[in-house]
Amino acid sequence: MGVCVAAILVSGAVFAGTQEPPADTILFNGKIFTSDSSLPYAQAVAIRGERILAAGDSATVKKLAGAQTKQIDLGGRTVIPGINDAHNHVDLHPANEVDVETKSVNPSVAEVNAAITAAVAKAPPHALLVANIGGTVFGDVSVNRDSLDKLAPGNPVELETFTGHGFILNSEGLKFFGVAENSKDPLGGRYERDSAGRLTGTVREYAGLGMQRYMSSKVSDADAMTQLRQTFDEAAKFGITTIQDMSDGTPPERDVALFEKVPVQIRVRIMRMPGTTAAGRDVAEGQGMPRHPNELITVSGTKWMLDGVPVEGTFTQRGEYKMPAAPPYDEIFRKLPLTFSEKEIAAMLQESLKNDDQLIVHVSGYVSAKAILDVMDASGGTAVWGKRRVRFEHGDGIFADLAPRVKAYGIVVVQNPSHLMAVLTPDGNVFAEAQPLKTLIEAGIPVALGSDGPTNPFLNIMFASLHTSRRSEAITREQAVVAYTLTSAYAEFAEKDKGSITAGKLADLAVLSQDIFTVPVPEMPKTESVLTMVGGKTVYDSGALKVAGAKN
Ligand SMILES: [Zn+2]
Repeated sequence: MGVCVAAILVSGAVFAGTQEPPADTILFNGKIFTSDSSLPYAQAVAIRGERILAAGDSATVKKLAGAQTKQIDLGGRTVIPGINDAHNHVDLHPANEVDVETKSVNPSVAEVNAAITAAVAKAPPHALLVANIGGTVFGDVSVNRDSLDKLAPGNPVELETFTGHGFILNSEGLKFFGVAENSKDPLGGRYERDSAGRLTGTVREYAGLGMQRYMSSKVSDADAMTQLRQTFDEAAKFGITTIQDMSDGTPPERDVALFEKVPVQIRVRIMRMPGTTAAGRDVAEGQGMPRHPNELITVSGTKWMLDGVPVEGTFTQRGEYKMPAAPPYDEIFRKLPLTFSEKEIAAMLQESLKNDDQLIVHVSGYVSAKAILDVMDASGGTAVWGKRRVRFEHGDGIFADLAPRVKAYGIVVVQNPSHLMAVLTPDGNVFAEAQPLKTLIEAGIPVALGSDGPTNPFLNIMFASLHTSRRSEAITREQAVVAYTLTSAYAEFAEKDKGSITAGKLADLAVLSQDIFTVPVPEMPKTESVLTMVGGKTVYDSGALKVAGAKN
């Protein structure tokens, strides 16, 4: 459908039966990528109130200006709809936490040990030391509670895999997180013990989520606000206008209270991500909350993790889990075991129906993707599930045989581009079937993007356009922007209001420091927003643009 801006305006005016009031703001003389397939590129956009009045060529759109209209000369700059980061974890950290620096995402045992020793020498007494590790350290059973006690007898130490699904703690660390020798394993989680029943320091899956909850409960509101202000300011500077936040670290009630107090200037959707105890899943958390605590905050959806991530092998014995000897490495996704039984998965689906609440599931491997599809088959099929937009976070294990079923169920796949950068394996074209991206989009499956890693959306757009784990699945920069805006809005049932620069939608957009569609690949991550708007209001302005108050 060819778009005719004049026709839209005329029909709007006729409908209103009166002369249209002028635009509040007009941005003109730009390269505006709209994410709207009916008019992919425009030169100008007019905004009135919180919504977009029109998009089109500069001459036509400028006719909507009145004497008071703010006119912004884009000077040829690129504009995109505001980024909607569909998968983010806004976490809180103790103020005196010490980050143990290592050089790579998968450091060696020697490097981690040396870094801990160096950190202990400088750290305040009792400060929590946190080091990120990968499969090398996690797979080496010589790294455990006792080895860490020798390195850091007086400080709590937390080694966390970069996926956030596996941890190794020392004795002080176990104490810090409130894990006792008699602590019971929560459903879907584990505190590993040796043959004598003593804690080894390894903590997995939902037991780790409990630890993070415990830690953030100790962060004061004042410290939390400082951290959140920084998080949201950074997001606005990156042109992010919506964050979809998993409330795993903090219960959703506290998230809302803190976000309101900051106050958050961009939109935040909080997705409930409750924990488990030995008695089962917490199915009540956040269910009675208002859906829109204020105009920028939404609380909707509930997330459960159906499996882990290959780095930790979920519940396989530490040290036993091995990478296949040679590519392709798809086996690591094909064999990843379930965290919950199929009976629990069936219960999750029924809860989402009962609460009329979107079900969001962490699905990394093939087994979990197949399991939930099978349960959907057995509980009403596409008639019940076809329009409920069940979300698969990651969806790495949607192998070719599952893709048609994913499509039939209207499942939304939320992929995270930093996960596509061969972080799990040596370099090269390493997957034959895992981590599909382009083929899902071409099959008509809605694919949204979220960070779940580095927040920089331009770094992530670069990653999606490279897809070094499986180069044939790379997508174009334009496809990545559509996924990161319009499809991310679809993933939260908000595509009628957000996600593209289209007349009638909320004026959420970002003017960029450079043209992300044409700059050389290595330049992409250096992109910033020079002007970010949320609902027509400026939430970040670098001062780079020329603004005129009144002109024709
Ligand atoms: Zn995540």
